[in-house]
Amino acid sequence: MQASNRISTILGGGSDGWEVFGRARQMIADGTPVTELTIGEHDIRTAAPILQDMHRAAMGGHTGYAAIPGIAPLRDAIAERITASTGVPTRPENVMITPGGQSALFAAHTAVIDPGDTALYVDPYYATYPGTLRGVGAKPVAIKARAADAFQPRAADIAAQAKGAKSLLINSPNNPTGVVYSRDTLEGIAQVCRDHDLWLISDEVYDTQIWEGTHTSPRALEGMAERTLVVGSMSKSHAMTGSRIGWVVGPEDIVQHLINLATHTTYGVAGFIQEAALFALNQGPEFEAEIAEPFRRRRTLALDVLARQNIVTAIPNAGAMYMMLDISATGLSGEAFANKLLDAHHIAAMPGESFGTAAAGHLRVAMTIEDSAFKSAMETLCTFADSLTHQT
Ligand code: PLP
Repeated sequence: MQASNRISTILGGGSDGWEVFGRARQMIADGTPVTELTIGEHDIRTAAPILQDMHRAAMGGHTGYAAIPGIAPLRDAIAERITASTGVPTRPENVMITPGGQSALFAAHTAVIDPGDTALYVDPYYATYPGTLRGVGAKPVAIKARAADAFQPRAADIAAQAKGAKSLLINSPNNPTGVVYSRDTLEGIAQVCRDHDLWLISDEVYDTQIWEGTHTSPRALEGMAERTLVVGSMSKSHAMTGSRIGWVVGPEDIVQHLINLATHTTYGVAGFIQEAALFALNQGPEFEAEIAEPFRRRRTLALDVLARQNIVTAIPNAGAMYMMLDISATGLSGEAFANKLLDAHHIAAMPGESFGTAAAGHLRVAMTIEDSAFKSAMETLCTFADSLTHQT
């Protein structure tokens, strides 16, 4: 018996650029310590008061089926948050609570894609994007952003692929590059979406991690609220990756469809998790800034290290917990460099090639280890890159 085509092709096939990650994991399993700059997850755990509230909620009886669209006070809180950040009046009926951002991405695409539809996304991309699009039966088409543009996608490149397409998926602040899309970039994207009648899926799970400038949600742009589905999550903003809680914000009729989808898939999110998420959101922006602070600090440390040499250069990362480093001066691909770095110094970083073709010759560094170890790994990486340029 054969599995369906749709589910069998989620992974696409061929090399996925994750060999370095696999090798690092194997080395650790074999007892070799590895400095891992690969993981997009905080080096702290969910804060104790959030867990205490989760416990309170569970002991208080929030263990049965919870409201499928999400509990009313949490939908209210997200609606208020989105209203405040976009200026677009947003009602609880515009909010669907989901088990994490990944599930929100899948649900949002399910809501707008029919099998065979073309779904656009930007390369470099978060690892699950093409599989998510294939999983809903879409034909994924990548739009290459350019290193020379600091990976801000060009509207003209998107427009060139937009004819007949159904949706466009963007992510700012971006994983893997740390780039925050400028207002100009977003205005250009919005124009293409309006011109070509595209749905815009806007993955904003890193919206509380901004190191320079501001984050603009395309929901705030003219004529976009009716065609934009915003994907959000508590994973990165509140260090709640394991709690699996996120949301989709969009037009009310789409949210109605998402409720039907959830009724036939997840059946909602555990009530005690939703209660804890509400408690976490009520801690306010200072708490969110505290969660983001280590990445801000480490980014400064990394920029100081990089300023002392001229082989490795950083793509300007105004947000998120990542840096994309250009190591092309070594003459190596990102993958070859990452493999050599792992062998020589037991430091694991993700080759740019793991995230599509646009970031070839780059290395993604996750700023997710303790400050002094991070700084020391950055120094070793730069010294190693320099040594490679002297080899004949
Ligand atoms: N979107 C991006 C860009 C991510 O980097 C991640 C996780 O790393 C997700 C979505 C999914 O996050 P979660 O499902 O934990 O909310």
